[in-house]
Amino acid sequence: MYQVARGCVSASQTFVFSPSGGNVTGRFAPTPSGRLHLGNLLCALLAYLSARHAGGRFLLRIEDLDAPRCPRTLARQAVEDLAWFGFRWDEPPLYQSERTALYQAHLEQLEARGLIYPCFCTRAQLQRQASAAPNLGDTQRIYGGACAHLTREEATRLSLVRPPALRVRVPDEEIHFVDGVQGPQCENLARDCGDFIVRRSDGLFGYQLAVVVDDALTGVDEVVRGRDILSATPRQIYLLRELGYPVPRYYHIPLLTDAQGRRLAKRDRDLDLGALSRRYSPQRLLGMLSYAAGLLEEDRPVDLEELTALFDWSKVRRDDLRLPSWL
Ligand code: GLU
Repeated sequence: MYQVARGCVSASQTFVFSPSGGNVTGRFAPTPSGRLHLGNLLCALLAYLSARHAGGRFLLRIEDLDAPRCPRTLARQAVEDLAWFGFRWDEPPLYQSERTALYQAHLEQLEARGLIYPCFCTRAQLQRQASAAPNLGDTQRIYGGACAHLTREEATRLSLVRPPALRVRVPDEEIHFVDGVQGPQCENLARDCGDFIVRRSDGLFGYQLAVVVDDALTGVDEVVRGRDILSATPRQIYLLRELGYPVPRYYHIPLLTDAQGRRLAKRDRDLDLGALSRRYSPQRLLGMLSYAAGLLEEDRPVDLEELTALFDWSKVRRDDLRLPSWL
């Protein structure tokens, strides 16, 4: 995705950014494929403070669609870890693994409108199709459209060989939005992404579909999450629009680095909340993160109540956030 770049000049579909009003519903939506780490905590913190500062609601959703990778024990641990910091949510946590009937119903709505088609491409075929855009990496590969125009007979014949993934057709049109942290954004889905997967060939629903269905059905109108997900947002805006749901405000927050400026990874076990909660109090960790994020002028212990009162998006830094060396 590009910041107002590459031919994104018309603003025929501009989603104007307006700061939160009184009835905010925010959420935190971790994928519990490991113990929560400091990056998750930062995201939970800013999502919570933004919603609560505006007098709004805060929801917790466990994104455990990929059930084998996200066992219930880790999900429960995430809920406990968040409660240890003092986070409270206004409804019982939702588990995506229990909501597949809803995703299926929404998929059928898109199907009824002719937007869904089966894709039989193997990984190797996808790689060959993407060779025209070699620098985009695996997750950012632009789909070449090999299966976009299969006849019914071809699709039936191919489905005897392997189960298909399902893709949604995207328009050759710019999606604009203004991110509350990263500023104006624009992407042409056909050119920069291609038709994308909404259900995998193993039957798992894609993240893009699940996230928009859940945000829409739970009335979420403010999405705070890591900058690493910024590039998925135009796809989500497109799905919301096609499903007839409103588009929330987005805040894509900076990522954390260690004291040397290296991006944190999930494998940094010493920075997960299991290890950290044995060494530090919740107030100490909240203070450290709030100071790194720009919310506090000094690194001191603090609780969620004090942070809620002083929260202001204009204080939050835009660049990657460096953790202190004492951690
Ligand atoms: N489940 C995603 C993650 O843990 C976040 C999804 C979202 O906030 O939209 O990275």
